[in-house]
Formats: sequence, C-alpha cells, structure tokens
Amino acid sequence: MEELNEIKGIGINTIKNLNDLGIANIDALIHYFPFRYEVIKKTNMNEAMDGDKVTIDGICENTPSVFYISRKLNKMTFRVNTGYRIIKITIFNRAFLKGKLVVGKEVTLTGKYDMKHNEIVASDLRFGLLEKTVIEPIYHSSYKINSKKINKIVNSVLGKVNIKDYVPDALNDKYHFMDKERAVFLAHNPSNMRSVNEALNKLKYEELFLFMLKMNFLKNNSLLADGLKREVDYQKVLDFIDGLPFKLTQDQLDSIKDIYHDLTSPKRMNRLLQGDVGSGKTIVSFVALYINYLAGYQGALMAPTEILALQHYQNIKKLLPSLKVALLKGKLKAKERREILDNLKQGKIDIVIGTHALISDDVIYRNLGLVITDEQHRFGVNQRGNLKNKGLTPDILYMSATPIPRTYALTLYGDMDISSIRTMPKGRKPVKTILKKDKEIKDVLYMMLDELKQKHQIYVIAPLVEESENSDMENVYELESKMNKAFGKVAKIGVLHGKMKPTEKDEIMDKFKNNDIQILISTTVIEVGVDVANATMMVIFDSYRFGLSALHQLRGRVGRNDLDSYCILITDRETKRLKVLTETNDGFKVSEEDFLLRGSGDLFGERQSGDMSFKVADIRHDYDLLLKAKEDSERFLKSEDYLDEKNSHIRDLVMQSVNLD
Ligand code: ADP
Ligand code: MG
Repeated sequence: MEELNEIKGIGINTIKNLNDLGIANIDALIHYFPFRYEVIKKTNMNEAMDGDKVTIDGICENTPSVFYISRKLNKMTFRVNTGYRIIKITIFNRAFLKGKLVVGKEVTLTGKYDMKHNEIVASDLRFGLLEKTVIEPIYHSSYKINSKKINKIVNSVLGKVNIKDYVPDALNDKYHFMDKERAVFLAHNPSNMRSVNEALNKLKYEELFLFMLKMNFLKNNSLLADGLKREVDYQKVLDFIDGLPFKLTQDQLDSIKDIYHDLTSPKRMNRLLQGDVGSGKTIVSFVALYINYLAGYQGALMAPTEILALQHYQNIKKLLPSLKVALLKGKLKAKERREILDNLKQGKIDIVIGTHALISDDVIYRNLGLVITDEQHRFGVNQRGNLKNKGLTPDILYMSATPIPRTYALTLYGDMDISSIRTMPKGRKPVKTILKKDKEIKDVLYMMLDELKQKHQIYVIAPLVEESENSDMENVYELESKMNKAFGKVAKIGVLHGKMKPTEKDEIMDKFKNNDIQILISTTVIEVGVDVANATMMVIFDSYRFGLSALHQLRGRVGRNDLDSYCILITDRETKRLKVLTETNDGFKVSEEDFLLRGSGDLFGERQSGDMSFKVADIRHDYDLLLKAKEDSERFLKSEDYLDEKNSHIRDLVMQSVNLD
C-alpha cells in the first residue's frame, strides 16, 4: 500500500481533504503525527473554579429536553448525578443523542463549568464512565476533516503497511529506543504520556539522524572535494572598492577578505554572510561576483523574488558596466529566454541574475564558478544536491538577514563558514518603532500625513490572511480604498500583491522607486531586500500575525538614509512580544528573542521552511538529541554498518535526497 486511494472506505473527497493538509500518500499519513495530546481525566469538582474546563462522569438523572433554536442549532439540557452531586448539563447540536440518554445511562462530559448555575456547558459527550485517564491525540486538522477522523484513517492502515526504521540497529540498542513500528503506533494511540514521550523521542531522533546523515554525506562527497582555485590580484579588488560611491564598513571589508580567501584557495567555499537588513550585504556579493569574474568564471545570483532580482540587476549593471550581465526572468518571451540560455552555455554572459530558476534543469553554464543565494533560509540539502546533479561544484555564498544563533548554525551546518556584518553603514539612524492599537488608527493617519508633507514615502503592509491567497488580495484593495479616502488628494497610492503578474509588479516597484507613488500598499512580497531610500515609514497592520524576525525585516525597508524613520506596528494582541521591537534595532538580538519565544519552526519562517523544518523535532528543545544525532551520523557514515545490506534503505534515502529536484 502506497497511495491513499488504496485505503478501504475513503473516497476522493477525503483524499482531497488529506491532500490539503499536505498528506499526499500513505507514508506521509502515518508520519502525520499529533502536535499535542489532550489528557482527559476526572476533575475534582470540589476544587473546580468558575470557567474551568472540567470533565465529569455519572448517570443521567432525567430525560433531556431539547430546544430547536434554528435549523442548524439545537440545545439539549439534562442533569447528571456524579455520586457526589447533581449537575445541570447543556450541550449544543446533539439532539440526535436524545433517545440514548435514558435515565440511569452512564456518561462522561467535558466542558466549561458555570459555578453560579451549577452547570456545565459541554463540548464533548461520550458514553460510559471514565474508568481511567484518557489521552486524545490532537492533529493539525481542518474544518473539513477533524482530528478524530484523521486518527481513524491512520489506524485503518497501521498494521497493514511495512514501516521502515531509519535508525540503525546499533543505535537503537545504544539508546534503548523502541522499534519504529511501535513508536508510530504509540504516537497515534497514546495510552499514557510516558510511553508517548518515549515514542516521540525515538521519532525525533530518527528525524534528526536522517537530516544530519544527509548533511554529512554532502559534506564528505561534494563540498571539500574539487574546489576551484583562482588566481586574482587583490589590488584589482581594492581598486573596484575604491571606485564605489561609498566607503565600505570594516565588517564589509572583512567579509570580502573572507570570501577572497575562500575563492582563491582550493577548498570549496560554503559560506553564510549574515547581517541585519540594510547592513550592505549586496555590495559584498557583487565584489564576490567580480572576483569570480576576474578569474574567468561565470557567476549566478539567486534572489527569492523577481522584484529583488530586477533590483540587483539594475544595481550591478551600474557598478560593473563593462561586464555582461543578464536577467533571467520567469516571464520572458521564448526567443529572449533561448538567447540568454544560449549565451550562458557559450560563456557569453558573465553574470546571470534571477530566481531559483537559475539552477533548474534547462539552464546550462559554460563554467559556473560561484552561486550566491540572497535572503535564503533554505540552505541545505536540496540546492546543493541539485547543483551536484548538474555536474557542478561551484563555490557557494548564502546571504541572510535572519541570523541563526551561532551554536545552532554550527551544529546544523558544521561545514559552513560564517561572515557577519554587525555594523550599519555610517549615517543611518535607528528606526523608531511604535506600537498602536487598532482604535488609534487616527493617530497613525496623522503620522503618515506628516511624512507625506515632508515629501517622504510610506510602505503599508496589509493584514496577512492565512486562509487563502485571494483574501490577501482583497485585503490589499480594501486598504487601498481606505487610504485613498484619507490621502487621495495628497498622494498617489499603489498596490502590490502576490497575484499580480511579474511585469505589473515591476512597474509598480519602478513607480515607487521614482517617487511616482508615495504610498505603497502591499502584502509581504516586499518583505525582503527592496531598497527605496526616500521611504521613511512602514505601517504594518495586524502585526501580531508575524514573527519578530519577519517584522524586523520589514522595518529594515525604512531607515536607509539619515532621515528620521518610523515603523508603526498596529495590533490589539500580543503587545508584550512585539515590545521587543520597540526596545532594540539589533537583528541579532531580535532573532535570539524570536528563537526563545517561538522556537525554531518560526525562526526559519513557515513559508521558507523546506529543508529546515522538522516535523517532530524542534532544535530548540531537542538540541541535546541533535548533538547526539550529529555525532552518531558522522560515525555511522564511516562505519562498515553503513554499507551493510540491512541498511540499504537508509543509504537509498540519503542518495535520493541528494538527487531531489
Ligand atoms: P542588505 O544587507 O539588507 O541586503 P543592502 O545591500 O540592500 O542591504 O544595502 C542597503 C543600502 O545601503 C543600499 O542602498 C546600499 O547601496 C547601501 N550601502 C551598502 N553599504 C554601504 C556603505 N558602506 N555605506 C553607505 N551605504 C551603503
Ligand atoms: Mg539584501
């Protein structure tokens, strides 16, 4: 059994609902673990307080009365005798159970305790007394498919499928781990929290072990080997730096030296350049591309969005006018695209800029020497594997404005070197960050007006809606009409959202850059990298919906010159968490804080997750386990055990991941 449609008794709708949760096949289904467990045990009602969630059991005292409030809503009330007292029960939309609730019937109820009325408003009713504590697995679910149903489907396949254990026997023995099949069963069928934790521990370890195994495999096989050794006169680099319109900061110069050293040594570069938003990473990457060019190699710069790619393209052409630079956009005419691809293949292009498409299959280079990825949290296995697939082993530079706390970075990417830009270019004033409540919107509008009067520009980030991309777009337009009412006479307003065509986006961005638009309303497409120095205010609606690091990135769009700049966070919730941003402008601190408050899952950002997101493990809580997995995987790779036939499935998985798209 591999595919969901092989499961008896589930139809295409259920399959679709599972797909929506990211469950594509049986393997994904059995690895779809609960994210928490609800422990249901009897409440001592003598200690219960008004409003508490309580669970009681007892026998029905009377026949229930049912009230039909509307077609979709009914209310049933009856009394339960717990042996100590009689409590009134109210429960909605369970009228269909009335016939079963005869006097003397044993029931268990969970709900909210209303002390004054001696009543429980129940959300859950089950038959029978609660003999012992029950643990209920709670899955991430949707309104179309609930936790109970997911659990039922999982259990209908457990026992019928072969579950492979990716932890080698020797390590299972070493840690006294239970076998995989049992761990999976217990995770879905919790009987007590001790065994659940034991099961989860095994599953977490397996996940971390596999991750580290892949990382170590790549490190051994592709990274240290065959680096390019370049001969480049450092004086030429210095001359280029001298010709720049500004003086580089010491940290920028140091980072350039690190990169120069990597590129001219036979060791393959695998470096992370981290620095706060606006700290000037881009120019460092241009110098890297220049060094690579001087040595006669082609370079590729990958940006996360087309807007950013365009911006980089325009900037690099200004700074290095004699180089042949191409922009490989998603939407190019077939002929233009073919021309760029041909020129790349023949070596007629020195530097190519674009999105991830740059390392897709149809792009062939003559001699690619350096790949740079900007604002990329998804470093790791896939991308490197993809390059290796193409027979390429270029040097790699990652740039990120979301610093990973150093200890974690070193553990996860032990093979990665790090350069940090900690100081901002001269003349920058820190962005003033202000929290405002929804009802204080008037203040915000006045502050905006002030900026507009000074001929400055403003970014407005529309509320983020998770449900659907369409509602994102509607939000942007709704905000546009409000802003038009307020500022239509004094400012031009533009909108930007993910559903727009790339050419439309470019057009709007150009207008904003040229100050033809003064207020740019946007979803978070502008989150990364965009650079408009005259923008001095960033207004973010529903800011509680974002992680601190994401907000910090957003506010980094302003404060790009010596003008006073502001970031206004509008929120009615979670002001305590957001307050961190009013207290510091240091991205390294913000990211540490984010990490402590929300765990790794969020640091790397839901949307960017990819390789970095673990399903069961959380590197913050499971750091010790990660250290073990790291060491064990290194040793395992070198051992004969790795080549043993019984571990061929582990080997296959590693190879497979290296060959991912
Ligand atoms: P990020 O690190 O967020 O990618 P950028 O590279 O986009 O930051 O730099 C932000 C702005 O600062 C750009 O306009 C860039 O030209 C400018 N800049 C970079 N380095 C310096 C410097 N040393 N002095 C003055 N301005 C600089
Ligand atoms: Mg940048």
